[in-house]
Amino acid sequence: MAIIRTTQTGIGMTSQRTRDRMLSRLREQGIKDEVVLSAINNTPRHIFVDEALSIRAYEDVSLPIGFGQTISQPYIVARMSELLRNGKPLEKVLEIGTGCGYQTAVLSKLATEVYSVERIRPLVMKARGHLRELKCINVKLAHADGNIGLAELAPFDGIMVTAAASHIPQELLNQLAIHGRLIIPVGTDEQILYLVERKSATDYRHTKLEPVKFVPLLGGTS
Ligand code: SAH
Repeated sequence: MAIIRTTQTGIGMTSQRTRDRMLSRLREQGIKDEVVLSAINNTPRHIFVDEALSIRAYEDVSLPIGFGQTISQPYIVARMSELLRNGKPLEKVLEIGTGCGYQTAVLSKLATEVYSVERIRPLVMKARGHLRELKCINVKLAHADGNIGLAELAPFDGIMVTAAASHIPQELLNQLAIHGRLIIPVGTDEQILYLVERKSATDYRHTKLEPVKFVPLLGGTS
């Protein structure tokens, strides 16, 4: 008799084998940081999506989470996490665009403290529930406009923006620690992922990475 190892819901499609396939795909796509791969392996993605979509939770696609928003594709979560970590443990991280909290949960395994900001209140509540279920105790969520960051908690050694900005918000640059890294998609129709490294109080190095597709970074809260 075949023994199917399952996780949480007991649905076959969310089994360890399905997750193993996702991990091999991420390796094939060039993700090398074992700490990131392990964090993804230990974060059940199916709990972040509606039950009807849970059979697709380990496909490499973004999926709807309501309010016109999406859960990021596993590849981009892995890629941005790898860039932020740069092979080293992170102390204090800020995420802009919590959504359902999937990337936040992955970050909680890579950093000592994680702060995440979301502008849509019902998504903050949803994410809070998911992160509680997964016992991500080093995470704090805020319902606010992420364009202005979280000045009272700055500096951050990593800032990750998971919605596409028309330009890089100055406040986020100000809140980056020296030697810190900011990962942000920039653009409207065509979006490019940027890495910004703060070299000193006044010196920031910008690196253009690859084309990406994110929902837009909007202003204000709702
Ligand atoms: N990190 C998420 C991605 C969510 S999609 C994941 O792991 O799947 C991007 C999110 O950014 C949306 O929920 C959207 O509401 C939010 N967002 C857009 N503009 C924002 C802003 N100015 N401040 C905070 N959140 C914002």
